Amino acid sequence: MLKLAVEVQGAGDGCLCVEAIDLTLGQRKSKTKPNGKKPPAEEKKQYLEPEFTKIRVVDFDLKELVVLPREIDLNEWLASNTTTFFNLINLQYSTISEFCTGDTCQAMTACNTIYYWYDERGKKTKCTAPQYVDFVMSLCQKLVTDEEIFPTKYGKEFPNSFESLVKKICRYLFHVLAHLYWAHFKETVALDLQGHLNTLYAHFIVFVREFNLVDPKETCIMDDLSEILCTPAPPPAPAPAPSTPASAPSPSSQNHVTER
Ligand SMILES: [Zn+2]
Repeated sequence: MLKLAVEVQGAGDGCLCVEAIDLTLGQRKSKTKPNGKKPPAEEKKQYLEPEFTKIRVVDFDLKELVVLPREIDLNEWLASNTTTFFNLINLQYSTISEFCTGDTCQAMTACNTIYYWYDERGKKTKCTAPQYVDFVMSLCQKLVTDEEIFPTKYGKEFPNSFESLVKKICRYLFHVLAHLYWAHFKETVALDLQGHLNTLYAHFIVFVREFNLVDPKETCIMDDLSEILCTPAPPPAPAPAPSTPASAPSPSSQNHVTER
């Protein structure tokens, strides 16, 4: 009962795998707050505040963006989207990377969860968040540019391990997104990039849900945000309802496009 562990196995090429330990109920929770420098408490999820969740750079139904188009091969679609998400999440992280240091983020945290790396021999490796993100990005870069795994030449087949490797990439990219919200949302807001982060996150979550690429047990730590951001905006009503009784108001009803 002291800890809820979510073990996720490394898939495919035998490289790295990761373990996430939810310390919400654990007595070791204090270890998630190195030096008390980054003590993001449950009650301080700034990114859930409506003034931030309503900010996107697009406001159309992302589901339409992720469904497999007719005449497109599934693996080609997964490869194209996964590569794009890797590039965009890498770019989004780079905007705050100067604030994500071994001092500020001594562990890779997100919502009271710490992610650990395991080396190629399965040995648990403690690392700082920037080290972890570097592992993620290096691994993703290696995989998406490997012609044997993400073939770009006409007629070249995808390997049998392709889907499991895509899942592995998406799982790691989710960790980076979760860390961005958990540890660097303030800096993201200061840079006025929260609309981009919200849109990227929602697009990513809708995509991985569509193709079951990340175990819901992995993404559940961010379900509160996902439910807000991934709810499609309702069609524009002819007249705004003056009072909405009973059910909770939908935050997405306030969606609008932020121009930049
Ligand atoms: Zn960080």
